[in-house]
Amino acid sequence: MLASSATGRVGAPLALASAALLFLIPATVAPLMLVSTYGASREAWLPSSASALWRDGFPSLGLLVAAFSIALPYVYLGLLIWVLGNLHFGGRRSVGPAFRWTKHLRPWVMIEVYLVGCFVSYSRIKAISTVTVAVGGYSLVAAGLIFLVALTQLDERTVWEMLRPGSVARNDLQGIAPAHGRSMSCTICDLIVGQAAAGQHCPRCGATLRLRKARSTQRTLAFVLAGYLLYIPANTLPVLTTVQFGREEHNTILSGVFELIRNDLWPLAIIVFTASIVLPLIKLFGLTWMLAATRLGSDRFLVARTRLYRSIDAIGRWSNIDIFSVSVLVALLQFGSLTAVHAGGGLVAFAAVVIITMLATVVFDPRLMWDASARSRALAKR
Ligand SMILES: [Zn+2]
Repeated sequence: MLASSATGRVGAPLALASAALLFLIPATVAPLMLVSTYGASREAWLPSSASALWRDGFPSLGLLVAAFSIALPYVYLGLLIWVLGNLHFGGRRSVGPAFRWTKHLRPWVMIEVYLVGCFVSYSRIKAISTVTVAVGGYSLVAAGLIFLVALTQLDERTVWEMLRPGSVARNDLQGIAPAHGRSMSCTICDLIVGQAAAGQHCPRCGATLRLRKARSTQRTLAFVLAGYLLYIPANTLPVLTTVQFGREEHNTILSGVFELIRNDLWPLAIIVFTASIVLPLIKLFGLTWMLAATRLGSDRFLVARTRLYRSIDAIGRWSNIDIFSVSVLVALLQFGSLTAVHAGGGLVAFAAVVIITMLATVVFDPRLMWDASARSRALAKR
């Protein structure tokens, strides 16, 4: 779809984003869930799920969980409210660059993924002991749902059209407007500019204008190879170790899925299996296919490949479910020698696979597939 008419709505997404931010505060400062077993009880907080991983000897994972589930949601919502608030009340201060950053950050804001991770760990614990959802948990559900509704109400084109280059100083457009010759579009805000503008900053959103992403194939190839290598330890090393009455039990991602099946949690088993095992493979195989087809100048399935790229880009973040679910389990199930849960080295490799494949889609330029097929078609005609 090239374009649908802009909704012109700014107030509704602004109100919803503000509400999501308001619910996010109790979700961060109040306990999410309570577990009571053997006469003792423990609480899981959003920050404690990150610090538990840190204390367990995995500072990198702790930082990752803190960034994806706490810091970036706040930054993202803050920027979004800044942009929409400015437009709603007639201001224009740094709105373009701020909105560009919301686009960059969106894949890394994982409130809703964290929510599903919480639900998986909740169901896992429920199978073995008593667990109740607390104030913070309900606030997180509200924040996550309102956040998703806010995104459906947010119309990017409305925002960009309100920031027409007409409102940008005329001087900034010198040599950038598509006068004669060929033009290209800004990849962030879709502003059409002349190809002579390559290397300059977009007058509307401030992104660097590039005809194609720099060294896209080499970078994607490097990330994809690293992804394949890390996929092996991610699936063979334990991601979770349970110590119960002195007996240790190691769980890989796959055996965690089997445990869900044993506890009759079929839907969750399917979700975790798809998100943690199938999705990373689809991403790696998909990008390999795109790289190979570009190299060979193939023009088969061009549209299908472009669509696959878009969906890989959109769903990649959901692989983080297992990381979040383990972080909650590690924070909650600490009852000394009776029951204790620890993260395993496999989780680091797994987190690396998820991030690396997400970065691979960021650096890959799907336009190269079209360039390659056009080149080979031109050669064939000659
Ligand atoms: Zn732009």
